Amino acid sequence: MKNEIRKDYISEKYVIFSPKRAKRPKDFKGKEEKTMTPENCPFCPGNEHMTPPALIQIPKKKWKIRLIPNKFPALSGIKFKGEEGGSFFRHYKPYGYHEILIETPDHGKEYHELSLEQLELCLRIIIDRYKKLRKKKEIAYVTVFKNKGKMAGASLDHTHSQIIATPVFPRKISQKMEAAEKYYQKEDRCPYCDIIRAEKNKKVRIISENREFLVLAPYASTWPYESWVFPKKHVSELYELDKRQRKYLAITLKKLIGKYAELFGNFPYHIVYNSFPESDFWHFHLEVFPKLKIYGGFEYYGVYVNELLPEYAARNLRFR
Ligand SMILES: [Zn+2]
Ligand SMILES: [Zn+2]
Repeated sequence: MKNEIRKDYISEKYVIFSPKRAKRPKDFKGKEEKTMTPENCPFCPGNEHMTPPALIQIPKKKWKIRLIPNKFPALSGIKFKGEEGGSFFRHYKPYGYHEILIETPDHGKEYHELSLEQLELCLRIIIDRYKKLRKKKEIAYVTVFKNKGKMAGASLDHTHSQIIATPVFPRKISQKMEAAEKYYQKEDRCPYCDIIRAEKNKKVRIISENREFLVLAPYASTWPYESWVFPKKHVSELYELDKRQRKYLAITLKKLIGKYAELFGNFPYHIVYNSFPESDFWHFHLEVFPKLKIYGGFEYYGVYVNELLPEYAARNLRFR
């Protein structure tokens, strides 16, 4: 295929595909090194004194899961004062919440190696916590994400996810949301429900599908091997997922991340949750980005060069 500039499904994001430089999975093999041991890892059982006291710990003794405030939080639950300063120099006090979910007591286990039961428990705690923080008056948005590996910004090897609640609305979400709302106003349908239908017809970018979830490699993928995970039933906010969907999400993530691990070994990645208050135009989804390349100056402008077509990524990532 010749080079092509693709536009995102609904937003103004552009990606230049340059597949002649295509790489095979083995060219991307992860080179992450593990440096910590259970002795010096603050997330390991026996080292609880190295972290702030837990907000959630189940069960209390011999815990299976633990939610803690970040020891060095970017934001904290101080009194909210709103925006301060005048024009050009506006600022806020660092109000917000920054929490870490330690997903297993087992230091060596990777996320996709956890049992389905444990993954469901992780999702349940994330959903509960998300809901609690979302209800706080001064909180504008609750981000949920997972960084795995040093290249993806995780300073600790022990598998964990993060929840950061902010008094300000993230620009990337508002941009995507505006694009989705614009589509909705024109078509009177959720853009993502339409995207799911259109991609199912095309088939080439579908990675996997089960009763409740669909995984695809997006048409204008920013990253090589990027994937998006959608509930098939329209849900806009994370906590609208019911028990059955939670179970299927655990199954889907275990298989998807497991498939990546099969291709790339110990690879760095992000999982980002895209949730938005109940609406007809926003469709909850997760985005998975293996951190297989580093972006530079050109991407600063919001135009990306991707040497790997999503059709090719979908073919390699496909699982049942
Ligand atoms: Zn550990
Ligand atoms: Zn939808």
